Amino acid sequence: MKPDHTEPSLLAEQLSQVFKRPSGRKLDEMRYVSFEVNIAPHANGSVLCSFGNTRVICAATVEDRVPGWMRQQKIQGGWLTAEYAMLPYSTLTRKDRPISKGKQDGRNIEIQRLIGRSLRAVIDLKKLPDKTIWIDCDVLQADGGTRTASITGSWLAMRIAVNKLLEEEKIKEDPIIDNLAAISAGVYENNCILDLDYPEDRDATVDANVVMTGKGKFVEVQSSGEEATYDREEFDQLLSLSEKGIRELIEKQNRELK
Ligand code: UDP
Repeated sequence: MKPDHTEPSLLAEQLSQVFKRPSGRKLDEMRYVSFEVNIAPHANGSVLCSFGNTRVICAATVEDRVPGWMRQQKIQGGWLTAEYAMLPYSTLTRKDRPISKGKQDGRNIEIQRLIGRSLRAVIDLKKLPDKTIWIDCDVLQADGGTRTASITGSWLAMRIAVNKLLEEEKIKEDPIIDNLAAISAGVYENNCILDLDYPEDRDATVDANVVMTGKGKFVEVQSSGEEATYDREEFDQLLSLSEKGIRELIEKQNRELK
């Protein structure tokens, strides 16, 4: 069967009639998404981003300096970097802070690099001279999809911070090129589903995280079989579902900015 790239809803509708997700949602249905802005007044931009029970505090802080390697190499422009952490009480069983274990957490590093890389794809750093934007993502409650909520909320926090820089005439031109959002999709009991919560994520055989811009360009696609494989048709379905979810997220971001 030829994969359908344009109408994931119709296919999802038919499959929903025979298969029920643990969350009870339709195959292509996201959790309730909300953005609570300006929750951390000392940051230049901040958002409490919720995808259902997953809640992440995303903050953007602007510093008037660039990293040493940029100064040494005389690279013009600015920089954007990200940090990600889970608060100890964000998980079902308490998770120690990495500092109390005396070592860095590999998963945190992987996720924070993804967040920074993703946001740098939609910002022209040349238009941010001698400034660094720090993105800090702290997971308040984890229920699957913390990295995708982090990316989606951080874009909004960054947008708010940059708007302030423009209003205060600290930068001349808008460096932000496009919106950015991310969502997860996966294969659960042979069905492709959108925006997995933790029980779905735990039992999914394929887990994908997709990052896309407002213009519908991919920034990153991470898709892994968990002790399983998947075929091209499933992969295409995961991408179509993600595209639909990301379009909805970007509409929500823009509504919030209005
Ligand atoms: N999780 C947890 N403790 C951990 C790591 C993950 O409880 O140390 C849970 C948490 O609910 C998280 C989910 O497992 O959201 C899925 O984790 P994954 O590494 O796939 O990242 P995420 O889906 O949060 O981006």
